[in-house]
Amino acid sequence: MNRVKITIADRFTAEATAWLKSHSEFDVETSTDPARLKETEALIVRSQFRLPKEVLDLMPQLKFVVTATVGFDHIDLDECASREIKVAHAPLAHAAPAVEMTWALILACARKLKAADKTARTQEWDREPLLGTELCGKTHGVIGLGRIGSRVAKIAHAFGMDVVAHDPYRDNDYFAKHGATRLGLDELFHVADTVSIHVPLTKETKGRINRVEFAFLKPHSIIVNTSRGGVVKEDDLVLHLKAGGHGTFGLDVFTQEPMRKGYELLNFPQVVVTPHIGANTRDAFTAVSMEAARNLVGLLTKGPVSGPLPPDEDWYRAASGLAVSVGV
Ligand code: NAD
Repeated sequence: MNRVKITIADRFTAEATAWLKSHSEFDVETSTDPARLKETEALIVRSQFRLPKEVLDLMPQLKFVVTATVGFDHIDLDECASREIKVAHAPLAHAAPAVEMTWALILACARKLKAADKTARTQEWDREPLLGTELCGKTHGVIGLGRIGSRVAKIAHAFGMDVVAHDPYRDNDYFAKHGATRLGLDELFHVADTVSIHVPLTKETKGRINRVEFAFLKPHSIIVNTSRGGVVKEDDLVLHLKAGGHGTFGLDVFTQEPMRKGYELLNFPQVVVTPHIGANTRDAFTAVSMEAARNLVGLLTKGPVSGPLPPDEDWYRAASGLAVSVGV
């Protein structure tokens, strides 16, 4: 019997690797060796392992790809479709940690935790500059009311906040279910005290949060991005901050990761940065590796798959220039 050659090309737990290896019909290896990739039939990656056409060209036997991430903007899905490569992502395991990271960044900005840590280590304890902002009674704006955005909304309610949201691909019943008032993007920035971004990176969302939105920001507002770096136009943000514009920014994701040395955005004290750790918990690493492993087996055996790609979602069809059913 010819065993299916499965290659794990990125971080993956030993437990999920062992589970795949326990299937006698699979030949499983952890490798990025070009010779192995050339004969690989099924591949497991994460977002650092990009799959544009040129990389797919190096894997002529490839028929199955699973990314152990929610985002899949690192994979050329059209190219995969033209080669009849079946693709899946792992959308379930990363939602909870991404939500928690979003609130960690909002709270870090609201209570100036970066500066507070420094001050607490001095003898002066100068607390005047550490005057913070409360969340209770304020308005939180969610951009992208999907798996992560809707959970962020739930926690905003728990903080005693009103919730407004922008998502053209969800209907009014869905907004009502999540206790969110529908707003246009500009209006949301005008109204919200805190804003968090949870859209996928698509042709539509690339650079969508830019100087136009920054101009609407309220004094003392907080903007957090834990989605994908390209969604926020970083050059515009630098100009906004240089001009003394409003807002404190919590950023987990960047157009270029890691950022280049001396990157200008890092010079501003009102910017809190983390190195794309939204889903970087032990729990999520364990869960997402198993979800990805199960999805790969699902693809191989025509069994259940938690995240087949492309997604059956209006936002994906709209960004791909296809017809959509909801439009507001
Ligand atoms: P999801 O597909 O459940 O939700 C995305 C939402 O965005 C959908 O409701 C969709 O309708 C909406 N949307 C799409 N295009 C839009 C647009 N142009 N304007 C407004 N709304 C739009 O996805 P999710 O599971 O909530 O994840 C969101 C993103 O978070 C992922 O695509 C991923 O890139 C990112 N993510 C990052 C980390 C991290 O480590 N920082 C972890 C997990 C997920």
